[in-house]
Amino acid sequence: MKRRVFLSLAALSLPAISVAKETSSKKVWKYQTQVLVVGGGFAGLSAAVAALRAGKKVILIDKRLWLGGDGALSSGIFYAADTELQKKAGIKNVSKDDYWKQICAGTDDEPLAKVRDNSRNSPVYFGVPKHNPDVLRRVSDNTTNVIKFISDYGIEFLPLNPAKPFQLPMLKKSVQQFPAKMIEEIKGKGGQILLNTKALKLITSEGRVIGVQAEQKNQTFDIKADAVILATGGFLDNKYLMKKYKGFWSAAPAAIGAVGEKRAFDRTGDGIMMGREIGAALEDMESMPKLAGRMEVGRPFISWTIFDVEPAFFVSPKGKRLLDEHVGRYAGCSLALMREKEPYGFVVFGSETFNGKNKGRFNLEKGLQEGSIFRGDSPEELAKKVGISPEEFSKTFNRFNHDAANGKDTEFGRKDPLFRPLKAPYYISTKGYPGAYKTEGGLEVNERLQVLRAKDDKPIKGLYAAGSTCGSITARINDAVSSGLLAGAEAAGSVK
Ligand SMILES: Cc1cc2nc3c(=O)[nH]c(=O)nc-3n(C[C@H](O)[C@H](O)[C@H](O)COP(=O)(O)OP(=O)(O)OC[C@H]3O[C@@H](n4cnc5c(N)ncnc54)[C@H](O)[C@@H]3O)c2cc1C
Repeated sequence: MKRRVFLSLAALSLPAISVAKETSSKKVWKYQTQVLVVGGGFAGLSAAVAALRAGKKVILIDKRLWLGGDGALSSGIFYAADTELQKKAGIKNVSKDDYWKQICAGTDDEPLAKVRDNSRNSPVYFGVPKHNPDVLRRVSDNTTNVIKFISDYGIEFLPLNPAKPFQLPMLKKSVQQFPAKMIEEIKGKGGQILLNTKALKLITSEGRVIGVQAEQKNQTFDIKADAVILATGGFLDNKYLMKKYKGFWSAAPAAIGAVGEKRAFDRTGDGIMMGREIGAALEDMESMPKLAGRMEVGRPFISWTIFDVEPAFFVSPKGKRLLDEHVGRYAGCSLALMREKEPYGFVVFGSETFNGKNKGRFNLEKGLQEGSIFRGDSPEELAKKVGISPEEFSKTFNRFNHDAANGKDTEFGRKDPLFRPLKAPYYISTKGYPGAYKTEGGLEVNERLQVLRAKDDKPIKGLYAAGSTCGSITARINDAVSSGLLAGAEAAGSVK
């Protein structure tokens, strides 16, 4: 089914980006390149590397003073199929087809082929299909190469978890090492990086994109390029787009950083706006933003991704469980709190987790020392430490342990191998709050990552998109890198 989203240009009030004009022949170009990458997150950096490896001249610009984007702040959890790491770990049934089937069905993480429903009572991430399954398929099949690309830099991943066979979480330090390695390669191959340089608009001639107008320290100038790749991220901080497309969810607090923390508000969907201004099609703009948990300022964060790898459960301030934690993951926990109108929730686990292999990954020792985790010998003791009803919490706790011992979750039908009784002493986290941390939806592309024109579905010559700027794929890091590599190679291939 084809859905087209038409923005009313007249309604846009985005002062930073003026409407693009066809260029005059006398234009003065401050820079000239073969491939121009706009945005230096995981998508933009990998696109730049791919274009350089194809032997092209590349300039990458970023409006910030630092590179790596949200990927460098992320938990580093990649999804991929048919990789050497999975083979070495003896993990079975992880072919590209298995991945495609599982992720499309939505039985792990958000369903790949679906637009996430943005309705207030949405029970799951579900909805109508994305426009072109072939685009999703190409990007997801390429995840095999993504993990090779990363591993070839010597970047390490955590041991794999058979309960989440497609998940490849990076070591904590790898999350910063990976962009650093890409930057090193870009510089080493002669790519030029301009920081503090914001793209304002696309420059076109005879319907083709031929460059970008950019701004640095209040000076505007033009960069000529044979191909432009837009990799400027999502639009969580663009109030206009959020209100127009995300409905109820536009009011969700942002879960980037801790509660009460100052943060940058610059995820403004610039590439999406620039593309749209020259007539690009948009896709999946209405999908629900992806939700996550966050802590209060000054408390070590106990990520709700703990439900992927440890026997643990999640309770509301009323002491009740809200979902199958393993299937719902961190996003499901956040969604359940918002749906139940609960302000926060707590993670509960036992000594097996506290002393187990993931204690470093989730800062458990530090959390106990610094007051974001509490220990108790009984459920009542735990409940008192965080101010929830000991009676209600004990009922929930005892039911969880009893069900887990019997292998039957009588509340939410949880079936995973981590559904195991907790052993004393027990632990509970401090409050974790729900919020949105990334948007899906953006420019529509074809399988070659070429941006399509709204009026005729034809590629706009010279224009590519990658990562969360691109509405035709997911905004996960694996798809950011995968689409970046593909867009970089495609853009390079288009240059004579
Ligand atoms: C806290 C957190 C944890 C996460 N954890 C995970 C995870 O474990 N697994 C996962 O799959 N995903 C995760 N994500 C999501 C994932 O990190 C992002 O969706 C992904 O990294 C997006 O990459 P990107 O390159 O498309 O965009 P971004 O990372 O947003 O990069 C865009 C870049 O473009 C630049 N830019 C923007 N506008 C302009 C302009 N006009 N001119 C020049 N430059 C511009 C920005 O400064 C930025 O550097 C997480 C996100 C966050 C915030």
